[in-house]
Amino acid sequence: MNVLVFCEHNPSMDSPEGKAAYPEGLGECLAQLLRGAGHTATLLPMDEQGVHGFTDELLNSADVAFWWAHCYHDAVQSEIIDKVVDRVHRGMGMLFLHSSHLARPFLRLIGTTGFLTWREAGERERLWCVDPTHPIAAGLGDFIDIPQEEMYGEPFGIPAPDELVYIGWFEGGEVLRGGCVFKRGRGKLFYFNPGHETYPTYKLPAVRKLLVQACEYVAPKQPVSGPLGCSHRDDFCIDRSVKK
Ligand code: ZN
Repeated sequence: MNVLVFCEHNPSMDSPEGKAAYPEGLGECLAQLLRGAGHTATLLPMDEQGVHGFTDELLNSADVAFWWAHCYHDAVQSEIIDKVVDRVHRGMGMLFLHSSHLARPFLRLIGTTGFLTWREAGERERLWCVDPTHPIAAGLGDFIDIPQEEMYGEPFGIPAPDELVYIGWFEGGEVLRGGCVFKRGRGKLFYFNPGHETYPTYKLPAVRKLLVQACEYVAPKQPVSGPLGCSHRDDFCIDRSVKK
């Protein structure tokens, strides 16, 4: 499948900790992970100028998009947000990672604030699987331990998820609905809280397996549909007089 990786490059990624966590860059780490799983991945960098390298052709051939953003939510071109949201409604799958809980396409799709509590203290997170039958959690056991992560806690301003797969627990005591599936139109999206840019979370084998399984789960099972619209269906219409 074709995957687009929207990933910003921010100053924190150029810190010694950021470079130690992802010498190749966080976005490139995600792209390589997807390529290693046999998919085509195109990295679309984001910065204070917005998204770079976006074309309609790339989006129109995408089965799934990943989105990782923190500092530059407001820099993303509104036209790109409109197009991405529209394609999700028509069937494209999407993963929103970590601080993308405040990304504008995520907020558009869920319709709520996305607010949560947070603390950056390098705490251990244990992600408890609350749906062992879910394909995203296949083969990953009862829980996934992340040695150091940014704490994200409830209350989390999301609608009740259509499918709750993981709840994250942090050593400071907080919990978060950290692995959630939402269905929007013909599309599915998955929010996943781990992935602060100065901790090498996306290098952990269990997290990598989860991300690939999530990508494959939200991928459309039939071709993404054309433009959405309201269509009059004669065959079900109660007002037979309108038929010729
Ligand atoms: Zn963070």
